[in-house]
Amino acid sequence: MDFTYQSLPGRVVFGPGKFSDVKTETERLGCKRVLVLSTPNQRFLAEQVADQLGELAAGIYDQAVMHVPVETVADVMAVVEQLDADCCVSVGGGSTVGLAKAIALKTALPILAIPTTYAGSEMTPVWGLTEDGIKTTGRDNRVLPKTVIYDPELTFGLPDFISGSSGMNAIAHCVEALYSETQNPVTSMMAEEGIRALGESLPVVVREPENLEARSSALFGAWLSGTVLGTVGMALHHKLCHTLGGSFNLPHAEVHTVVLPHATYFNKGHAPRAMAAIGRALKVSPDDAAGALFDLAKAIGSPLTLEQLGMKYEDLDRAAEIATQKPYYNPRAVDRAGIRQLLENAYQGIRPGKE
Ligand code: NAD
Repeated sequence: MDFTYQSLPGRVVFGPGKFSDVKTETERLGCKRVLVLSTPNQRFLAEQVADQLGELAAGIYDQAVMHVPVETVADVMAVVEQLDADCCVSVGGGSTVGLAKAIALKTALPILAIPTTYAGSEMTPVWGLTEDGIKTTGRDNRVLPKTVIYDPELTFGLPDFISGSSGMNAIAHCVEALYSETQNPVTSMMAEEGIRALGESLPVVVREPENLEARSSALFGAWLSGTVLGTVGMALHHKLCHTLGGSFNLPHAEVHTVVLPHATYFNKGHAPRAMAAIGRALKVSPDDAAGALFDLAKAIGSPLTLEQLGMKYEDLDRAAEIATQKPYYNPRAVDRAGIRQLLENAYQGIRPGKE
């Protein structure tokens, strides 16, 4: 064995009802003027947080939107200054914690995150900002939340179509962590367990949204997936999804869901240990790891083709070209013909191994 493992700092409080620990946890961070962040449709949760915080709550900003536009950041920064906030509590998904990260990037204010989806952003030091339609990302330890409260009861309201694709997105982080250039035994252990937890729980979660055991297991898997995403580098799958989402305006989590089985299949012969781990986690042979991911997406009713997501067939060539323009790490060398075939299979929704 030969590896480097860099763990990230951070405190995680996990369990049903832990939402009510928000005041104690905020006090623990030494904060006295808290700005609570949410999207417009989760304002009711932000209000519940503010109620719990009592005198520690300085105000609520409920205009978080997808991909952190710089205009929203300018807007919230005026509120941060006006309230003289010394901490942000984000309650919601990746979009809300993304806004908290943008504030922390400018001010180094501590973040307490209360995630309500499976995106995993709360465990990473990765920030993103969108200006004129172009998203820039970077890493900075100041944006990593100091404390994360995972309360599975807050995910009961997450609709089945978001639960399923958000969960598949989390599995994608685990899959690529297993064959990452910087993979190590610790993150690989977490990644395999993340796939197992999500693979077992997601079909139950979409059938029975208020099944606490399944919701807990899915959120636990999401935590593991966010941790590995924040710790090791990703590869082809994430690059492709970034290209498809950014250049062709396709929905983030659904693109991950559709592409993942095909990216996994592309790497199959070049990442045997990863295939074995995925196989163990999903209880199939390593040979059928990619097929099992396809079956899981199908079982949870997620879209299975790029066509369903609005991709145009005539754009596949350009997508293959953009995705192969700049070199990046992947266990199998990335070539244009291979990526074009991968995209064809994802466009058609062919079960890997059946083409
Ligand atoms: P999201 O935060 O955009 O939420 C989607 C919608 O679902 C929102 O309207 C939200 O209010 C609603 N919602 C969230 N939780 C809910 C719940 N429990 N019940 C009912 N409605 C709920 O979606 P997301 O998938 O969590 O985040 C996606 C964003 O996160 C993308 O911009 C992505 O790039 C980013 N992301 C960043 C990182 C990172 O490390 N920086 C990691 C993963 C994702």
